[in-house]
Amino acid sequence: LTEERCASVEIKDLWFRYREDLPWVLKNLNLEIKAGERLGIVGRTGSGKSSLIQALFYLYPIDKGHIAINGHQPKLQESAQGVDLNLYRQSIAFISQEPILFQGTLRSNLDIDNSLTEEKLTAVLRQVGLLDWVLTQPQGLDMRIEERGKNLSLGERQLLCMARCLLQQSPIVIMDEATSSVDPQSEEILVRATEEFFSDRTQIIIAHRLSTLAKCDRILWLQSGEVVALGPTAEI
Ligand code: ATP
Ligand code: MG
Repeated sequence: LTEERCASVEIKDLWFRYREDLPWVLKNLNLEIKAGERLGIVGRTGSGKSSLIQALFYLYPIDKGHIAINGHQPKLQESAQGVDLNLYRQSIAFISQEPILFQGTLRSNLDIDNSLTEEKLTAVLRQVGLLDWVLTQPQGLDMRIEERGKNLSLGERQLLCMARCLLQQSPIVIMDEATSSVDPQSEEILVRATEEFFSDRTQIIIAHRLSTLAKCDRILWLQSGEVVALGPTAEI
C-alpha cells in the first residue's frame, strides 16, 4: 500500500460518530476518490470535514459502513481480514488545521527514525522555502522545538508538516487548510504544494480559499454530515 504512487479511496455507506451516546457526525456517506484525483471538501464549520479525516484514519470505531484504500480495509481485530492498520495509516500523509510538532529537534520532527541524510533533509527544507530560516538558527537542523511546536509560527509549522509529508512519500496526501491566515509567501508555497510537490499523489483538501478550490478536480460539499453536492469543480 505504501509503495504506490497514488491510491484510490472508497467510502461506502459510512455512518460516523465520536461515541455511542453522541449524535452522528457523518450520515450515510458514499464517495469514491480516484487514484491521482484532487478532491476539495467544503462546508460550514461543524459540518464534518475534519471528522471525515478522523474516520479515514480509523481513529474511532466504525460500526456502520467502511473505508478502503486501493480496495484494502485495515485489519481491526485479530480474527479479521485486511491490511495492517499501521501500514494502512502510513499510506496517508496529513497536514492538519493545527499542525502539531513534537518536543525535540527540528531534525527529529522530520526524521523520526533517524534514517535520512542531511542532503535529503536540506533538499526538502529548500523545497518548502524554510532552508534560509533554518540556516539562520545557530543550531541549524538541531534547533530545539518546544512542546507542540509553540516556539514556531503557524506558517512555519505548516511548512514543516508539509516537509514531513514530502519525506513520507505516501500515496494519499490530505491537507486541512488553516482558517487563520499565513503570510503571502507561505501561502504561495502551500498552493504550489498542491500543484507541484504532490501533483502525482491523490489529494484531499479541506479548502477555505477560493484559490485552492479552483485547483481541485471535484468538490464535495458537506452540510451537517450529509452530502449537499458532489461534482466537477466548475459545476459546484
Ligand atoms: P471546521 O470548519 O470548523 O474545522 P469541520 O467541518 O471540520 O469544522 P468537525 O470538526 O468535523 O467540523 O466537527 C463536526 C461535528 O463533530 C461538530 O458538531 C463537532 O462538535 C463534533 N466533534 C468534532 N470533534 C469531536 C470530538 N473529538 N468528540 C466529539 N465531537 C466532536
Ligand atoms: Mg475542521
